[in-house]
Amino acid sequence: ISLTVSLTARSALSQVTWRGGFLFTHHGYSGPSVLNVSHVPVRARAGHSPKGQPPTAKVQVQWTALGDKEWEEALKPHGARTVTGALRAEMPDRLATALLVKANVEPTRPLTELRRDERLRLIDMLVRGELPWQGDEGYKKAEVMGGGVALSEVDPRTMESRRHKGLYLCGEVLDAFGPIGGYNFLWAWATGRSAGSAAAAVVKN
Ligand SMILES: Cc1cc2nc3c(=O)[nH]c(=O)nc-3n(C[C@H](O)[C@H](O)[C@H](O)COP(=O)(O)OP(=O)(O)OC[C@H]3O[C@@H](n4cnc5c(N)ncnc54)[C@H](O)[C@@H]3O)c2cc1C
Repeated sequence: ISLTVSLTARSALSQVTWRGGFLFTHHGYSGPSVLNVSHVPVRARAGHSPKGQPPTAKVQVQWTALGDKEWEEALKPHGARTVTGALRAEMPDRLATALLVKANVEPTRPLTELRRDERLRLIDMLVRGELPWQGDEGYKKAEVMGGGVALSEVDPRTMESRRHKGLYLCGEVLDAFGPIGGYNFLWAWATGRSAGSAAAAVVKN
């Protein structure tokens, strides 16, 4: 199942929200939205939380573009429409059914019979549902690294280290945190070119 969602990951250290593609795969969640917020739980789990704060992160999902008001509207009685019918208009069928089961709302219930408490529970899950997670795929599967040499330690014109003259840095070794979608390649190529040109110029002179 794939769809576009908004994910918000929160830890004691940071909070990131990203709207984009989301996939259920056989081994977990994937897609741009997941990859772009995953550093929050990964860093929390790796023990980067401030002292005394729990080493965990909460991930919330807004399953569609609809917010509270729009769902209130979509779940208003409408002929013989069932609650499943209302959800399926906005998301894949199997996900709609699974969310209704999780919210403890009978999928075949006509909207005319949806109780207020059920409606509120359902909207809460649709707009800010908690996404359970257990771990990440680790360094071997990671696509982009966080951390590295602080950007303040590098001259941006030449990429030369301000701490060690004659050392030129580029790409992943620097603490630049790009979203996925080509920005990390761009960063590697652009900084690589600057560093290479500057280092070559020194050799030439
Ligand atoms: C599976 C995957 C998918 C990705 N997809 C995207 C994407 O779609 N878009 C995007 O923008 N970014 C993507 N990235 C990230 C992107 O590939 C990196 O940000 C980028 O390649 C970093 O370039 P780099 O030159 O800094 O480092 P690297 O490409 O890692 O190059 C470092 C090189 O140094 C070599 N090396 C290491 N140690 C030594 C040593 N001691 N002596 C000599 N050589 C050494 C390594 O073998 C390697 O060739 C992806 C990364 C992965 C892993």
